[in-house]
Amino acid sequence: MYFDLDNTLWDFKRNSAEILKKLYLEKLSNLQGISIDFSSFRDIYEKHNHDLWKAYERGEVTAEELKVSRFDRVLEELGITKLFKSEDLNDFYLHNLAKLPHLMPHAREILDYLSPHYSLGILSNGFKQAQYSKMSYSKIIDYFNPIITSDQVGVNKPHPEIFLHAIRESGCQPNEIAYVGDDYLVDTLAANKMGITGILLDPDHKVQDENILKLFDLIELKEYF
Ligand SMILES: [Mg+2]
Repeated sequence: MYFDLDNTLWDFKRNSAEILKKLYLEKLSNLQGISIDFSSFRDIYEKHNHDLWKAYERGEVTAEELKVSRFDRVLEELGITKLFKSEDLNDFYLHNLAKLPHLMPHAREILDYLSPHYSLGILSNGFKQAQYSKMSYSKIIDYFNPIITSDQVGVNKPHPEIFLHAIRESGCQPNEIAYVGDDYLVDTLAANKMGITGILLDPDHKVQDENILKLFDLIELKEYF
């Protein structure tokens, strides 16, 4: 059984919100002559980050471009490009983010429940170094083998090649594999297309599709496995 990491096991939204607050307080809150409030800073960051991740998933920007561009765009929109280097802000963000340990509800409980009976792996569109760090600090890394990240394979989900790589690494047939993720297109439908059983974690009830397996909470995996 493979899992996606961000917003499936590791609570990216909560962890990222904490780091943005820290970055704001340490770097931006007491600039002389400039006042930026936290919620505008966060909204601006999230808009650009979201757009760039979508572009990355379409193969339009590289991982390296994404890391720097998101803060470039934020600094530009705030009109403070002269005060900071986007690389420094990005380093601060990534370095601190990956050390936060907050997991999604019942993540550890379900891993404890599954791990005696199934081989568990990670299949993630994140960067290898950051994803290993997140799993180490949240103390879940030992549950998983293999751990597959898109920068190692060279393509991102939903590209079929990364799923083929995951199938080969598992030594199983596609129909013996389940993949739990929080993105309907990139995780669930892409897995189903490859013959893997995609399971969507959709805590906000966003997706209406009678043909897929859907969870509101990871603990519901106990009903299937
Ligand atoms: Mg995810």
